[in-house]
Amino acid sequence: MHLRKRVLVTGGAGFLGSHLCKRLLKDGNDVLCVDNFFTGTKDNILELLSSRHFELMRHDITLPLYVEVDEIYNLACPASPIHYQHDPTQTIKTSVLGAINMLDLANRGNSKIFQASTSEVYGDPLIHPQTEDYWGNVNPIGPRACYDEGKRCAETLFFSYHQQYNINIKVARIFNTYGPNMHPNDGRVVSNFIVQALKGEPISIYGNGSQTRSFCYVDDLIEGFIRLMSSADGVTGPINLGNSNEFSMLELANMVIDLIGSSSKLIFKPLPQDDPKQRQPDTTLAKELLSWRTNTRLQNGVKKTIEYFDCLLKEKYLYD
Ligand code: NAD
Ligand code: UDP
Repeated sequence: MHLRKRVLVTGGAGFLGSHLCKRLLKDGNDVLCVDNFFTGTKDNILELLSSRHFELMRHDITLPLYVEVDEIYNLACPASPIHYQHDPTQTIKTSVLGAINMLDLANRGNSKIFQASTSEVYGDPLIHPQTEDYWGNVNPIGPRACYDEGKRCAETLFFSYHQQYNINIKVARIFNTYGPNMHPNDGRVVSNFIVQALKGEPISIYGNGSQTRSFCYVDDLIEGFIRLMSSADGVTGPINLGNSNEFSMLELANMVIDLIGSSSKLIFKPLPQDDPKQRQPDTTLAKELLSWRTNTRLQNGVKKTIEYFDCLLKEKYLYD
């Protein structure tokens, strides 16, 4: 008989969490989604609420939680600079206290635990592309520090619990990911450019647009999560998950304008402090250990994301 695994997803109503919950349900698991709805929304998981194998709990992970589960995916944390800088101390608490609470839960219940870490642990990187053994270049008191240092401390906690209590940990360093269910106002570049282009508003380029990022489509990333969680016990990570094709923000803006056929013009705004100049994951480890690689070309992923935002803007009467 196939026994359903009980899987906890913190931040399950957010962008990545909602896709993960959907995938876990499809794979035949019982899913408990825990979220405080700071940046996530019930709309992202609306279609899952009718499943009797899906449960939703409003809870802030900075507070302890007692539930029995086989696996924990710890995703709760705002990911966009606008949101994580809105209440920096809460961001640190979510990363650090949240990690402690989830690790205690894993220790008590002997559950496997996955941490959604980030390429931000590399800061403004001095080596390129970034390999997992690079220690990073992070400003500990800059505007991004609440997120970057919070996530770095969470990684330290995961490895400390692993070494001290032999907990089965899986740490993924996620690079910029995009796709449906991103919040239209969360300020991240892909959602900003698409929403602006759909509305015919100016496309906001920060700095001169030569800074680069490597964008991963959400379905590819979620496949990486599942593979990492089911990897052999000794595979702890940290392991980079992301697309290794690098684009400048100018290239991205022009691609979005072309795909939409938009009349939007570019507008240049000041570059935020400590904005990393370049970012590209070295994914050799993920290829070797998880046989994982990305399949979605940026153009194709952006097209699907455009369709999502077009429907959303129509549905919510957000077109002017
Ligand atoms: P998101 O903001 O869409 O989702 C985060 C979710 O966590 C939201 O539903 C929010 O309400 C919830 N949350 C925040 N604080 C909480 C708390 N204290 N208790 C309970 N719930 C809380 O962001 P996302 O893009 O889905 O990111 C998910 C995770 O992946 C985050 O940990 C983020 O750091 C990491 N990550 C994402 C990216 C990316 O490109 N999307 C890149 C690197 C890392
Ligand atoms: N960016 C931009 N215009 C926007 C939003 C972001 O040019 O409207 C730039 C931002 O300065 C950064 C890149 O796009 O260089 C990616 O920003 P995002 O906030 O999506 O992610 P992160 O900086 O965390 O990688």
